Amino acid sequence: MKVGIVGAGMVGSSAAYALAVMGLASSVVLVDRNHDLAVAQAEDIAHAVPFMSSTVVEATGYDGLSGASVIILAAGVSQKPGETRLALLERNTAVFRDVIGHVLKAAPNAILLIASNPVDIMTQVTQRISGLPANRVIGSGTILDTARFRNLLGRHLGISPQSVHAYVLGEHGDSEVLAWSNAKVGSLSLAEIAAQVGSPITQSVRLTIDDGVRNAAYKIIRGKGATYYGIGAGLARIIKAIAGDQHDVLTVSCVTPEVAGVKDVALSIPRVIGANGIEVDLMPDLNAEETEGLGQSARILKDSIEAISL
Ligand code: ADP
Repeated sequence: MKVGIVGAGMVGSSAAYALAVMGLASSVVLVDRNHDLAVAQAEDIAHAVPFMSSTVVEATGYDGLSGASVIILAAGVSQKPGETRLALLERNTAVFRDVIGHVLKAAPNAILLIASNPVDIMTQVTQRISGLPANRVIGSGTILDTARFRNLLGRHLGISPQSVHAYVLGEHGDSEVLAWSNAKVGSLSLAEIAAQVGSPITQSVRLTIDDGVRNAAYKIIRGKGATYYGIGAGLARIIKAIAGDQHDVLTVSCVTPEVAGVKDVALSIPRVIGANGIEVDLMPDLNAEETEGLGQSARILKDSIEAISL
């Protein structure tokens, strides 16, 4: 499979590296407005390839995206001092308008995978600008938040995160909802597993885990300025599901006809991912508080998308 990446900054290059480590793609092409950066990232990653796989990693212009099955959009501009969130959104929308035109010309049949933040809004912007069917425009959404939730729950219980089935829903951001009520470990509810392994999930444990998930990015940014390895691996994980037509259940963002009473909004719920992108949406069974939280998250996102000129 050939994978294109537009935006060879920290997130785009980390995704390229993860794809090369996992040996998922035969070819990865990097495109960036700053071509020298794309060339340098491709060279650096290409030098790691002989130690792990046979993926060919190159920097190209937009024409090099021709034949790509999936294209990651990781381009964007960062917030200027004093700039409002809305002004930043308008600038990133302008970047996407430019990028998507070139991408569709080179690879009209590719699935688009959005990584630029705010990812839910940029996913909806991409779907509107591209006119592609919603199931072929996928945002990384809460894939990473879900991984963080599983990691912290697994650590508390002494169980591998891969055996924890718990989801973070809604916005990839402050209003996200940790779905505690339907979390399972193996086949057991949280209360049952906690009792059996002798690690109760008290209110204080819940608050610590909630804070750990919700504020993970802020903490990492304080320490090193940006987050990229986690999301790079998350993007590669989504591509693995597409490449192998695996029908994996992952929490990703996509324009959804209706969520908790809000119509036509991009946010994350568990979805089945295969060769056609999103194959099926799985609306989770939530308690009243979580349903209310998801509705609030959907309304926040809907208000943001309505505020920008498309
Ligand atoms: P992140 O941490 O999200 O990866 P970066 O600033 O490191 O953020 O990377 C964003 C990348 O997007 C930069 O390398 C920048 O050159 C690129 N970029 C910005 N605008 C465009 C554009 N219009 N076309 C292609 N690439 C772009």
